[in-house]
Amino acid sequence: MKPVLLKAAIATLLSIIASLAISWTTIRLTGSSMNGFAAFMSTLCPLLIAFPASTYTFYQNHRIALAHQELEAAHRELAGVYRRLAAAARIDDMTGLLNRSTFIKELNQAGQRGAGGVLLVIDADDFKGINDTHGHLTGDRALAAIANVIQDLFGAEGIAGRIGGEEFGVFVEGALLSRGRALAERLRRAVERIEVRTIQGGIARLSVSIGVSFVETAADFSTLMAIADEQLYAAKGRGRNQVCAPDPETVTVQLRTAS
Ligand code: GH3
Ligand code: MG
Ligand code: MG
Repeated sequence: MKPVLLKAAIATLLSIIASLAISWTTIRLTGSSMNGFAAFMSTLCPLLIAFPASTYTFYQNHRIALAHQELEAAHRELAGVYRRLAAAARIDDMTGLLNRSTFIKELNQAGQRGAGGVLLVIDADDFKGINDTHGHLTGDRALAAIANVIQDLFGAEGIAGRIGGEEFGVFVEGALLSRGRALAERLRRAVERIEVRTIQGGIARLSVSIGVSFVETAADFSTLMAIADEQLYAAKGRGRNQVCAPDPETVTVQLRTAS
């Protein structure tokens, strides 16, 4: 309010000076000279009119400026909320990895820019048994623990997502089949070392089976996924807790870019 009154006082002062100058000039032109009453009226009128009028105008301007600031702050806050919502919509709540739709979208984008690499499809073994033995809550903890290991191993260099209930996917761009197999084996061993604290206070051990597929250049990822699924199925069939990958000699997967 103080700056409003100050500005109004300055405007009033300027009005008084202008009013006195106009009165003085006009009176001199008529051949008379300015008397005390004329000077008083030339001061009083602008004082009574200009001060309230300019106080009102400056006050309104001040309010509009404040409203602008509040609007800008609200816009900034909304933009922040939007960014956080957009980020949250990409993420699987329980594990913090990408959710299925974002994982597939990112895989397809990798394919469209011509990226080759390895895809790992990772499935927790006998997870129904984990739930049945230790309870669903322990099962949830176990999934989060597997996701942590995936994040630690691939977070920096891979696209990692939860593609189903107890199933995860990782794509490592530019990796060859031999590296994919080695990474999958590292992951399998790391999961073997996980100790999940159960709700009853005990320890649950976990294992995963992993199917690997590989593509040299651009990929149609649904086919790449199908090949990894086949390998996963083979890993389950061979007794679980193992990695299966296509024979390097027979890998001829050269797929067209997904469109
Ligand atoms: P396999 O070794 O053949 O993969 O056996 P499995 O028991 O892991 O496979 P199955 O498909 O028979 O069962 C998957 C189980 O995973 C059943 C389902 O309740 C559990 N599951 C899926 N999502 C979640 C989850 O978010 N939390 C918990 N606790 N369990 C889940
Ligand atoms: Mg399973
Ligand atoms: Mg499964």
